[in-house]
Amino acid sequence: MAILLTGGAGYVGSHTALALLRAGHDVVVVDNLENSSAESMHRVEELAGRSLTFGQFDVRDTDRLGKLFADGSIDAVVHFAGLKAVGESVAEPLRYYANNIGATTSLLAAMDAAEVRQLVFSSSATVYGDGGEPEYVESMPRNPVNPYGQTKAMIERILEDVAASGRGFRFSILRYFNPVGADESGRIGEDPRGVPNNLVPFVAQVAVGRRPELLVFGDDYETADGTGVRDYIHVADLADGHLAALASMPAADRAVAYNLGVGRGWSVLDVVTAFEKACGRPIPRRVIGRRAGDLAACWANPAKARAELGWTARRSLDDACADAWRWQSANPSGYS
Ligand code: NAD
Ligand code: UDP
Repeated sequence: MAILLTGGAGYVGSHTALALLRAGHDVVVVDNLENSSAESMHRVEELAGRSLTFGQFDVRDTDRLGKLFADGSIDAVVHFAGLKAVGESVAEPLRYYANNIGATTSLLAAMDAAEVRQLVFSSSATVYGDGGEPEYVESMPRNPVNPYGQTKAMIERILEDVAASGRGFRFSILRYFNPVGADESGRIGEDPRGVPNNLVPFVAQVAVGRRPELLVFGDDYETADGTGVRDYIHVADLADGHLAALASMPAADRAVAYNLGVGRGWSVLDVVTAFEKACGRPIPRRVIGRRAGDLAACWANPAKARAELGWTARRSLDDACADAWRWQSANPSGYS
């Protein structure tokens, strides 16, 4: 198949592009490089030993998208493009709504015009919000607590409405838990701009000496060691989840959501210990207060993805930390 990846130069997109190329698919990427680098695409090509097609433009440019679809070669789309920083979304909600919703409606219009009606969407566990139960199941209500999460919940709703309109669309909605790690080559990985928001890239930058210490956001949660618990999924397993989704798309006029997670949680201190083992050096850390909006614990119930997509996470947290360290130590400043 030929697959269009919007936002394919980013962290999850680049690993998925590599997995698709390795599986023999053709890959077309559209990315405005707002939060990524074209270097990731060169490295994906180098690792796969094959080339992909890359267009640098905004997905909200429906005309350019239309031209891309015009030759009829694209069979399906994976829609990664979006802004994803929770704190930034609170400070700049309009930018988040305009980008994330606008990119999706533009993409759907271009797909409809070209009669390409299979889409895999990058959603997030953040759509569940604070529902009470730490183990998230797809049937739980959406209850996002910040503008970023709202955009994901709204897009899920848009996809459900478009599916119900009877035009033959098939949507697979993938709710990612916490993607971590890198391709085992260490050639591609997560390269956040500025101060990392997420735990593992922050820890990796401490390990490589770019930052003096990890700030642990609270150790007074009702968890085994008092720090927050999350479901960390290796990005290569997540990439494989997209291939599984593309191979088992829902029936026409259906939008189906799947949790992509491991199915268990690790605390902040578990992650720090695993990373120390991977890099062979201590990670200085200091406990500060809780981060606003954080939950104590959440993890996936991944049974639906296992049953319907035949997908399950195979790699361990130790694998993820070893691979994240290989990437970070070989590329201390990321792609730049
Ligand atoms: P990323 O920022 O590395 O990748 C997103 C890519 O989209 C970037 O390359 C960016 O330049 C591009 N982009 C953004 N808006 C665009 C637009 N309007 N037009 C063209 N390109 C645009 O993020 P990621 O971690 O790879 O995440 C990919 C997707 O998965 C996002 O939608 C994100 O919300 C979702 N997600 C990520 C996580 C996570 O923790 N990484 C968790 C859950 C869901
Ligand atoms: N966390 C932390 N210090 C950091 C970044 C994150 O202690 O610098 C904690 C955070 O409070 C949460 C866990 O690590 O318990 C995962 O946070 P992340 O931002 O990576 O993911 P999310 O909050 O989206 O699950």
